[in-house]
Amino acid sequence: MSELIPEDWFEMNPFALNQADKEIKMRQTLTSLHHHHLQHCEAYSNLFSDASMDSLEDFPYLAVRLFKYLTLQSIPQEQVFKILYSSGTTGQTPAKVILDQDTSRRQSKVLVKVLQDFIGKKRMPMLIIDHPGVLKSKDSYSARGAGIQGLSMFGRQPIYALNEDMSLNIEVVQAFAETHKNQPVLLFGFTFMVWQHFLQSLRKSENALNLNSGILLHSGGWKKLEAQKVSNEEFKRVCRKTLNIEKVHNFYGMAEQVGSIFVECEAGHLHAPIYADVVVRDPQTLKVIDNNNPGLLQVLSIVPGSYPGNSLLTEDLGSVLGVDDCLCGRKGKYFQVLGRLPKTEVRGCSDTQA
Ligand SMILES: [Zn+2]
Repeated sequence: MSELIPEDWFEMNPFALNQADKEIKMRQTLTSLHHHHLQHCEAYSNLFSDASMDSLEDFPYLAVRLFKYLTLQSIPQEQVFKILYSSGTTGQTPAKVILDQDTSRRQSKVLVKVLQDFIGKKRMPMLIIDHPGVLKSKDSYSARGAGIQGLSMFGRQPIYALNEDMSLNIEVVQAFAETHKNQPVLLFGFTFMVWQHFLQSLRKSENALNLNSGILLHSGGWKKLEAQKVSNEEFKRVCRKTLNIEKVHNFYGMAEQVGSIFVECEAGHLHAPIYADVVVRDPQTLKVIDNNNPGLLQVLSIVPGSYPGNSLLTEDLGSVLGVDDCLCGRKGKYFQVLGRLPKTEVRGCSDTQA
């Protein structure tokens, strides 16, 4: 498996390659992976053929919702190392993602390489905006638990900000802020939890924290916040006011495609690292559309080897904002996510590229 995805991928700076060079390199690895899945995953070989791909946009993609209905794997059962379930909304079928040791190891490496580019290499005291019970399940991992576990590697002495009933543990949070006054600290949580159970609880109780050297990372979708009309700008404004934190980075990713982690830079743009990319398609025709026009996001990643998740069509809308020229200096594509495709427009689960 390892020779499929050469190790030199993980020795490079994740944002140093320009788009043209990155695409050449990604195309080579994605082509090997495509053949690997054709050989080892029956569901995949039933859908796709051995056609050659001249650009990243030519790679066939699976609809992300297929992971709710099918077990997609390209490894023998005895190599299954971990099964990841997406949390999903209550009552919905969770997506199921099969990882072997190699894929899991690459996922961790990529997470480290990408996040260190934004938060530095030093491990900081960490405040997790969740409750400790979320990690309890043993054999199967919820995406929420897995996310917290993954991010915990970047902090030290993790402290949980919430109680089991999602109420704010104000004593613990205030003690954390006091102990680490004027020091770099890392905060992590899922976007909605941070907003609802942390920022709003602090506001309601008229408490503010001074974490002026802190960094807040958050992820997990804006659906619930959109319903409350909370924009990314408003989110950041409340972080400044309530936490005194300037450095707030949203990131976009999904359980179904390990290795795709797109972090918001200092200029407010989500960036594709060298291991992953985005393509925007017209929701009706599925043709690739021009930059700055909104459409359905397709995500590509070289990380999954144990299952055919290298090219997925999401149900999220977004647009590419530019290539190689973001003010922050990172190369490659940068983009924004504009929310979910309205439910009525979601195409059927059998819908994949012909
Ligand atoms: Zn940038």
